Amino acid sequence: MKTLVALTGANGAFGSEILAHLLNDSDLKIRILLIEVDKLKPLVKSMIKNNPDRIEVLYGNTNSETDCQKLIQGARYVVHASGMIPPKTEHNEKGAYGANYLGTKNIVDAIRTSPDRDNIYFVNIGSVAEYGNRNEKHLWARVGDPLISSDYDNYSYTKILAERYVLEAGLPHFVSLRQTAIAHRYLFNNNLSDGLLYQAPLNAPYEWVTDGDSGLLIEHLVEYDLNHQLDTGFWNRIYNIGGGKANRLTGYETMNRGFSLLGRNLKVFMDPNWFATRNFHGAFFYDSEVLNSYLHYQTETVDDYWKNMSKIYWYFHLGKLVPPSWLKKTLFTKLTKYDDSPKYWVDNHIDGKVKAYYGGYTAYESIPKSWDYYPLLCENKDSTGSFIDYDKLKDEAYAKPYLLEHGFDDTKPLDQLDIKDMKQAAKFRGGFCLSDDMVKGDMFTKLTWQCHKGHTFKATPYSILFGGFWCPECFNKPWKNGRMAKYSPYFAQLYYADHSKDEEDDIYPPKEKQ
Ligand SMILES: [Zn+2]
Repeated sequence: MKTLVALTGANGAFGSEILAHLLNDSDLKIRILLIEVDKLKPLVKSMIKNNPDRIEVLYGNTNSETDCQKLIQGARYVVHASGMIPPKTEHNEKGAYGANYLGTKNIVDAIRTSPDRDNIYFVNIGSVAEYGNRNEKHLWARVGDPLISSDYDNYSYTKILAERYVLEAGLPHFVSLRQTAIAHRYLFNNNLSDGLLYQAPLNAPYEWVTDGDSGLLIEHLVEYDLNHQLDTGFWNRIYNIGGGKANRLTGYETMNRGFSLLGRNLKVFMDPNWFATRNFHGAFFYDSEVLNSYLHYQTETVDDYWKNMSKIYWYFHLGKLVPPSWLKKTLFTKLTKYDDSPKYWVDNHIDGKVKAYYGGYTAYESIPKSWDYYPLLCENKDSTGSFIDYDKLKDEAYAKPYLLEHGFDDTKPLDQLDIKDMKQAAKFRGGFCLSDDMVKGDMFTKLTWQCHKGHTFKATPYSILFGGFWCPECFNKPWKNGRMAKYSPYFAQLYYADHSKDEEDDIYPPKEKQ
């Protein structure tokens, strides 16, 4: 009998690669949940057509509890790759909550209440966006870092809510894989029709992974697990997905690779102050090798990706014949006029967003107008314009000084952690662990915690110490990251890397100030 894998998001950039890779193993059957009205990608359509006995299509939606129950019925693995991503999440707050949080909750509940729950392995797809904005002070993220949803970011907000639900549900077998920026074949089409690309700061760190390697990762997960090649320590953990050192690029470098298809440099098409300077997300992963050592998925570099792109978009080379000033005017300037572009917010006095993404109008005005004076990390300049060794900055061997503290001895094996570690970690988060005892090393029996405001809540040691979660009530919208930082050294170490002390009481959106 074939093993059944249930998959959501099979029509997406990541999900379609997962589907393609799962088809490589002829012992698997894949049940995919598709929304009937969605237009299928040609690639997905042909996979379904060519594999009628391997792919079972279930039409439905994760917002339906019944559909989720049907989806997981009889499945050994449930891979949850569907969700809403930016810029859609920015324009549809309710949709983001439904697709990312409620959709995940419904699947988790279906597994949790299934009589077969002990035999189901759940793979949640989280996001690098959960780690908040990173700059040269803290380029590196790792599991255990605080989760900070950037102001106004419905995407990270709903991904954090969803992952917390996964961790706290008491599922017998789960992993949450925090996906990084994916280099996929639809990248151009998705990013040349709105102002989102200007929200990414030029010096923001990204550790890319290709769509192919992301699919391979899931293929190996299923294959290795079925062959008993994964040790028992693999399950019930969070991991970061990243492509390794060769795939670490700043925002500037990332876009510049695309422009090299036109034989040009970004600087001739865009102005430096079109780009936000903070409040986005992206990080180099200090621990992406942990997942790679289990699943051996890092086979491609971003350079391989661009080589493929230049074959697919061969006609882009004709762009060399077009005067750059014409392209700047007809395309790239136009993108700054969309209402999700930072320049639009400046020009239209959207004060809250100007504050969140630049630090205010004065900070915006101080951005060099000319590229000659704009300090780019990839050109070995730090934010003050002084020399910095960028190649060293991307190398994990030199990463230690940039890592965030977790507030307890995180070098201890998990089975050695006890109530003293909990109390210490809680203090670093600005609160208390109210429970007085725990079984040493038991990471999944919930304890009682209290935040600086006196809210009490229950959460597992794993969620607090390794998930990066804290008080759910303080996390509720509106965004008030400054208030968390004011009372919590854990949050402060990241928040003050790009905020000043007088931003502690800022709340986003500001009209909801309370
Ligand atoms: Zn609280």
